[in-house]
Amino acid sequence: PDWFEAGLPHIWLPYTQMRTAPPPLAAVATDGCRIRLADGRELIDGIASWWTACHGYNHPHIRQAAVEQLARMPHVMFGGLIHEPALRLAHRLAGLLPGDLERVFFTDSGSVAVEVAIKMAVQYWLNRGESRRTRLVAFRGGYHGDTLATMAVCDPEEGMHSLFSGVLPTHFIADLPRDDASRGALDALLASEGGNVAAILVEPLVQGAGGMVFHDPATLRHLRSLADRHGILLIFDEVFTGFGRTGTLFACQQAGVVPDIVTLSKALSGGTVPLAATVARRHVYEAFLSDDPMHALMHGPTFMANPLACACANASLDLFEREPRLEQVAAISAQMRMELESCRGLPGVRDVRVMGAIGVVELDRIEDMNRLKASLVAQGVWIRPFRTIVYLTPSFTIAPAELTHLTRAIRTVLSDPA
Ligand code: PMP
Repeated sequence: PDWFEAGLPHIWLPYTQMRTAPPPLAAVATDGCRIRLADGRELIDGIASWWTACHGYNHPHIRQAAVEQLARMPHVMFGGLIHEPALRLAHRLAGLLPGDLERVFFTDSGSVAVEVAIKMAVQYWLNRGESRRTRLVAFRGGYHGDTLATMAVCDPEEGMHSLFSGVLPTHFIADLPRDDASRGALDALLASEGGNVAAILVEPLVQGAGGMVFHDPATLRHLRSLADRHGILLIFDEVFTGFGRTGTLFACQQAGVVPDIVTLSKALSGGTVPLAATVARRHVYEAFLSDDPMHALMHGPTFMANPLACACANASLDLFEREPRLEQVAAISAQMRMELESCRGLPGVRDVRVMGAIGVVELDRIEDMNRLKASLVAQGVWIRPFRTIVYLTPSFTIAPAELTHLTRAIRTVLSDPA
């Protein structure tokens, strides 16, 4: 049968059930920075499948590691058993992350990595007998996932908060402390509520899915000092920014700040199979060490530290060592800065900004998102604008000519007055 026809009525698509939404395109193969469609068309991927495929698709080194691991041991439960792919990966992540971020808890999605971070932070205080510290401070414009616990720390304006208000836990959602007013407001919040706060949670340098908003390293240093002053934990969600996207392997390195907990996913496995990690500093882990079973972190997903996923992640880290990924990010950054600049004068363009391998054209408003998406596909590119944001987060291995094709396509569709 034609599986597109037969299967589509049985698929629940993410984010839209609008009757007017155009059907998804059928992808049959990927290679490098390209996605091939069932109808034979080939698209240059401008967003690396939601920022995962940092080495491009189908890198032979990752494929080889995956095939070998698949033959040896694709999966084994992690409760009571342990294996080299996870041990190696944890050791390497601890070596790459700054400070004493050294204890790795593996899961399988960014949302769950953040949920685990929230559980760790709250229980860190419970284990020390501080039962009031159950709430988080998170930030307007932030995005941390789609599960109930992570929805509650997303920007309430953007999420489904009002629909789910009876179900979601309540946290404090503040403005990022970037000017005197927002710093004063956060100071006031912590002065009155600090004793109820377990942790401050932030996406370092870039609020990604919330609108590709950039902020300064100084903001992160300010949050570290606030957390220290009030004795609160600091969590960095590096699910988007981790593994080179902002120009350094981790965004926190640009600020010289060591958070107490960091979350990783997306590019962790080189864009191959699902994997995530929540990494804690030594003092966080030590709050769980006890002979009291109630002090343990009660979390243990079925596919925790899946060996196949860990093997892919180890191969991905090999590539960061062997191939000049961060230099490629710097070159992409320079090229996007030059080429996207020409969008600045176009009607309806509010801002153009670039950080690392993230290029953003922000519009005043979007009249017809479906038309814009279709025009981009007609230009031979896979770019998925959302709200007022047209963005590029390509694979780091993209060729300069492919990147030019992407930036030209954006300019062309934004120039089209239709
Ligand atoms: N945190 C951040 C910063 C993210 O960008 C995302 C995904 N866009 C998530 C968490 C959630 O990750 P996942 O979709 O894998 O659950």
